[in-house]
Amino acid sequence: MPDKPQEPTPGAPRIAIIGSGAAGSSAAWRLRALLGPAAQIEVFEKAPEVGGRAHHIEFAGEQVELGGTLIHTDNRRLLSIAEELGIELKSRSDNSAQAGDLVLWDGQRALVRSSMAGVRLPLALIRRYGPFNLLRLQRLAKAAKANWNSVYGLQDAGRIFERPEDLLDAAGLTPYLGLTLAQAASQQKISPALIDQFVTGVLRDMYNQGSAVVALSGLVALAGAGLAGGSLVAVADGNSTLFAKALNRIQAKTHLSAGVSAVTVAGGSVLVKAGGGPAQPFDSVIIAAPLELANIQITGPAGDPLVTDLGRRYQDVHTTVVAGQITPEFFGPGAAPGDVLTVDQPSIGFKALGRIGYSRELGVPIWKFFSGEALAESVLEGVFRKVQAVHRHLWQAYPVLAPEPRFRPFRLIRGVYQINDFESAVSTLETEATAGWSVADLVSQDLRAPEAS
Ligand SMILES: Cc1cc2nc3c(=O)[nH]c(=O)nc-3n(C[C@H](O)[C@H](O)[C@H](O)COP(=O)(O)OP(=O)(O)OC[C@H]3O[C@@H](n4cnc5c(N)ncnc54)[C@H](O)[C@@H]3O)c2cc1C
Repeated sequence: MPDKPQEPTPGAPRIAIIGSGAAGSSAAWRLRALLGPAAQIEVFEKAPEVGGRAHHIEFAGEQVELGGTLIHTDNRRLLSIAEELGIELKSRSDNSAQAGDLVLWDGQRALVRSSMAGVRLPLALIRRYGPFNLLRLQRLAKAAKANWNSVYGLQDAGRIFERPEDLLDAAGLTPYLGLTLAQAASQQKISPALIDQFVTGVLRDMYNQGSAVVALSGLVALAGAGLAGGSLVAVADGNSTLFAKALNRIQAKTHLSAGVSAVTVAGGSVLVKAGGGPAQPFDSVIIAAPLELANIQITGPAGDPLVTDLGRRYQDVHTTVVAGQITPEFFGPGAAPGDVLTVDQPSIGFKALGRIGYSRELGVPIWKFFSGEALAESVLEGVFRKVQAVHRHLWQAYPVLAPEPRFRPFRLIRGVYQINDFESAVSTLETEATAGWSVADLVSQDLRAPEAS
């Protein structure tokens, strides 16, 4: 945490950010650039460390990401912060830990088995689904990615967005919000087999849901799977260190194990009550945590609740990390898999499995499962010849991602802002960082023009 917490400067704006994940850290970073060194930026984090859903542990002697892992090389907000901080990135494709086949598993056999290393469209996929279906899918993912990338230019040109849907609309992404990925694919005459099998497998891996996800989320996931060019990286020392170092560099005063219980608009300031201490006044407060999970009482000047219920539900995702040797040929004849995607077949017992590293201490590979329910012992016993270590973590991972996502405005009331409703449309480290960037722009505008809006 910051070596030199900043002292308050009389008259300088005082901003509280609740949550130190991608959204809160990016908002803090942007605010420092907009407001200059005198602004007092304080981050309140419920957990004992920075990062939120970017979280790594030491397991079997190695560092393992449990949550948000992969960053696309087009992700300009996160990568520009990493570059400015001189942070080392590691490339996924360079990592021999991932060596092994891509397997699309239906519970009985591998529908697709391919050595993916360095290949954008593996031959096995082309053979099974035909080149034109894959090219149409690629075209769709590339178009959505180009739209998303236009957000950066709009932000750089000074566009301010008051609502998540305004940002998405300005980037031409509204057409991807009203329908499922399966519907978007069907409009492009992409074969249902490709959607029900391979695409569903990718989406179960990335979002715990199949092709009924809102099309924008689906296309972002497919871009992440390499269908729209670019490649994937992660922070060498763990993704959360990007956020910890960013907060440190901008000298944000960061309070850890400081859960906020109340945010109250009172007179000309906003009171933040954190960690059992007295309420402290701020000029602006940004809530960078899902409102449904944050457990904060947020009230306006008349004691009125500022947050309406969207009926949004976060999904349980069980992450199970295993050190062990896979049962030979469990996934059919051929080399041991590097990534196992699955079709929607409940008897499989998990959504995805990937080889994520190698334990030098135990001399066996490290694997990570995602499942919608706690991974059954019977699955472990079947998939592994021998299990040497297991770590389980349950996430409230992301909202159920469905068409016609609903949002509350970024500005709940002057002085109180939220970022995480953006996740109703798509939930990644970069999209959250980008939404955080926009909310910082909005806060800065409001602070500079107190009479406007
Ligand atoms: C298993 C898993 C795998 C994923 N894989 C990827 C991936 O590979 N690539 C990718 O881009 N994305 C991935 N994601 C999604 C990505 O991790 C999230 O979209 C992103 O991290 C969300 O960031 P955030 O800052 O909006 O929220 P969070 O990271 O959840 O941050 C919110 C913070 O607020 C804190 N908080 C909550 N309530 C309070 C309170 N009352 N007071 C103070 N603090 C509070 C929380 O402790 C938390 O630190 C994955 C997510 C999961 C769960």
